[in-house]
Amino acid sequence: MLDIASHPTYERTELAIDFLVVGGGIAGLSCAIALRRVGHRVVVLERHGDADISKMSHGGIRLPPNVSKILFHWGLEDGLRAVSVSSEAIEIDKYDTGELLGTHLWEDEIIKETGGEYLFCHLPSTKTCGDCCLTPL
Ligand SMILES: Cc1cc2nc3c(=O)[nH]c(=O)nc-3n(C[C@H](O)[C@H](O)[C@H](O)COP(=O)(O)OP(=O)(O)OC[C@H]3O[C@@H](n4cnc5c(N)ncnc54)[C@H](O)[C@@H]3O)c2cc1C
Repeated sequence: MLDIASHPTYERTELAIDFLVVGGGIAGLSCAIALRRVGHRVVVLERHGDADISKMSHGGIRLPPNVSKILFHWGLEDGLRAVSVSSEAIEIDKYDTGELLGTHLWEDEIIKETGGEYLFCHLPSTKTCGDCCLTPL
């Protein structure tokens, strides 16, 4: 388990506050990690435990470079890579006929400049990945 509280960070709060985050989706976990990194105390309440992760929504989630670069910076790069695929382009198709309307290519040079990567992953995997850096109660 990555110890997020001791992961290198630039600023620490002088006044640690107790936070309660309701919901362990990507928003709640990102919020919790950001607060822990600067020294606050955080408890995340998630209604679905590990045993019923299958009840969570089975959607996908798109992590564009401006998001992935922050998660990489927080030390989650290995964990994210293990549960995601990197996207080089997206194709836009017409819904009713499937006709290809166009392709949006992520140019290498632009992706490099963003400092992140275009990642796609399965929604429950973001929970597993975020859990890896938060110590359970
Ligand atoms: C079928 C589907 C397909 C999708 N496809 C894509 C896609 O291709 N690309 C993309 O970028 N996005 C996609 N999305 C959207 C993406 O999944 C969401 O935008 C993202 O997950 C939102 O994150 P969140 O943390 O705000 O909310 P959520 O992921 O919904 O997390 C909220 C969490 O709060 C918990 N919770 C709720 N109420 C309580 C409570 N009272 N007490 C405790 N816990 C509680 C829930 O169990 C859940 O774990 C898809 C979504 C679905 C459903």
